[in-house]
Amino acid sequence: MIELLNKKVLVVGLARTGLATVKFLKEKGALVSTSEVRSEGEMKEVLQELKECCVSTEWGGHNVQTFVQQDLIILSPGVDPTVEPIQKALDDGVLVISEMELAYQFIRVPIIAITGTNGKTTTTLLIGEMLKEEGKKAGVGGNVGEPLILFADGGDQWEILVVEVSSFQLEGINVFRPRCSVLLNITEDHLDRYSKYEDYIEAKVRIFKNQESEDMAILNWDDPVVMKYEERVKAKKFFFSLREKVDEGCFFDGKEIILRLFEMEENYFLSQSSLKGIHNVENMMAAILAARLNGCSKEAIERTLIRFKGLEHRLEFVREIGGVPYYNDSKGTNVGSVVKSLQSFQEPVILIAGGKDKNTDLRPLKELIQTRVKRMILIGEAKERMSKELGALTDTMIAGTLDEAVRLAHRTAKSGEVVLLSPACSSFDMFKDYKERGKVFKEAVLKLSTKSEARNPKFETISNDQISNVNNGKKVS
Ligand code: ADP
Repeated sequence: MIELLNKKVLVVGLARTGLATVKFLKEKGALVSTSEVRSEGEMKEVLQELKECCVSTEWGGHNVQTFVQQDLIILSPGVDPTVEPIQKALDDGVLVISEMELAYQFIRVPIIAITGTNGKTTTTLLIGEMLKEEGKKAGVGGNVGEPLILFADGGDQWEILVVEVSSFQLEGINVFRPRCSVLLNITEDHLDRYSKYEDYIEAKVRIFKNQESEDMAILNWDDPVVMKYEERVKAKKFFFSLREKVDEGCFFDGKEIILRLFEMEENYFLSQSSLKGIHNVENMMAAILAARLNGCSKEAIERTLIRFKGLEHRLEFVREIGGVPYYNDSKGTNVGSVVKSLQSFQEPVILIAGGKDKNTDLRPLKELIQTRVKRMILIGEAKERMSKELGALTDTMIAGTLDEAVRLAHRTAKSGEVVLLSPACSSFDMFKDYKERGKVFKEAVLKLSTKSEARNPKFETISNDQISNVNNGKKVS
């Protein structure tokens, strides 16, 4: 276990996780300081609590000198480990780890860790709910729910932890070893942060790095990138597939999910599930496998599949006007997720896309845009590149704002078509985050004329507030 008493420790990144890390380190007797790229004025939500911790803070940027004089540096989940001060500290022999790695060293219960380019949050929450339905004391943390550090020293409050992990967090691990790892998929993303796609892939497959043969790994059989790295996995492997009847794992026959494990077979019907989209079948398969392998009964899984609502901003139904349903997929921030969202509709789609360009390859969208997208309405910084590379494949329009894009879609949509916001880009050029973008979209849709409205059912989703309260208000220590 890492020694913290009287050690000089720098916490980089000061949102909720950073603050929780500071408190944990202080309790352990470390000499803590912090560094944050944003200015003091932008961080009002943590200022008061931080003051109470009496730690020195550098605001508005990272100073190399601050970094190289530490014994240990802890990176919060959103911090890019390739920035210069961190690299300089590494060169000088300073130990740099992620908050997840620090927390892991003080956690005494098994961990199910979920990563992938898309579907992490949905799958993590699903697994957590299945285990809770079984009556297990399951905590949900990492990128969703509580920062993992809040589970450190958790005593017997939790039996098992379900943890969403990002590629950045995986870059900062040394001994992190989940009992069960899940790799959902790997497609191009974050090329605005990684110089090469290969580096991003390498970060993702680090989830298997410390696993041994008595651990378990769940892999997407259909994903060529995931399968390319299969040989590196020392843990016992289980697969899920939409295409093939795998021997050990889950597959889909068009109606139900079939689980094959240790020579037994179980069927899971999806007719009562409210999760839309083919990608959610993948998420459900991964979740069924993880839950079943970790002591959850078939009955508890079935009850959860019926009860579990879709998540806000992920292929979320907003409203139907004149036979045209509107869907908010603002969390569709990369090409891979938009591919799956488009595949989820049989109807012609009016696609609203664009935002902050991540410089990823747009080619995987080409065929779907040609065959399923009747009209594309582009917004944001990426609109020129998207229009140049994809515009000729369908009727393409440019809009100045999201509101204007919604009105354009409304004006041109015909009954039997679908309007879908699925941007393939991040939101930071025009919005605070994907949640604000989704909210603006929903408000614009709700403002549209109701004259020809056919039906407007209330469609319930798990809101972001509920997502952050996933441990049912139970305090984690
Ligand atoms: P993450 O936490 O990895 O960002 P989410 O569950 O929040 O994943 O979903 C993010 C986006 O990816 C949404 O647009 C959703 O529709 C899409 N998505 C969800 N699951 C998958 C999957 N298994 N494969 C591809 N896209 C997915």
